[in-house]
Amino acid sequence: MDALKDIYWAEKALTKALPRMSKAATSPELKKAFDQHLAVTKKQIDRLDKVFQQMGKKATGKKCEAMQGLIEESESVISETKNDTFTRDAALIISAQKVEHYEIAAYGGLVQLARTMNKRNIANTLGTTLAEEKKTDEQLTRIAESSINTEAATEEKPTSSLKQSFMEVFS
Ligand code: FE
Ligand code: FE
Ligand code: FE
Repeated sequence: MDALKDIYWAEKALTKALPRMSKAATSPELKKAFDQHLAVTKKQIDRLDKVFQQMGKKATGKKCEAMQGLIEESESVISETKNDTFTRDAALIISAQKVEHYEIAAYGGLVQLARTMNKRNIANTLGTTLAEEKKTDEQLTRIAESSINTEAATEEKPTSSLKQSFMEVFS
C-alpha cells in the first residue's frame, strides 16, 4: 500500500511536470512525445484509482521524494539550457528517461507483489502501465538517436571557452 501511494503521488506530480517539459522542448517530435505521455499518465492514474478500490482502500498519495527530485532535475535542465536548442532536448530526454526508469522499477515491484499475493487482476492492470512506461522509455531513446543527439553535439562549442579559460589560468 505504501508503494502504491508513492507511485500515485508520483504520477500526479508528473501530470504537472510533463506540460512544462513539453512547453520547454525544442523539437516538435519531443513535444508530441511528452503530450502523448501526459494523456497516458492520466489513464495510469485512473488505473491506480481502480487498484486502490480493488484493495478496498481509499486512493491517497504519499510524497515520493525520488520523483520530486527527478522533477527538480528536469526543471534545472530547463533553467540551465537555452530556449530553442537541441542541447536542451538531449538533456530533457535523459531527465525524462530517469523518470521512466523510476516508474519501471516501481511498477515492476508492484506487479511481482500482486502476483505473489495472488491478485491476478491487479497484476494485469499494473502490468499494462508497466508496459507503457517501457514503451515510452524506448520511444525516447529512438527520438534521441534519430536526430536530437547529433544536432545537440554540433550546436554549441563550449570547448573553445573552456580552452580560453585554461589559457588564462596557465598564462
Ligand atoms: Fe507513469
Ligand atoms: Fe518513491
Ligand atoms: Fe511514465
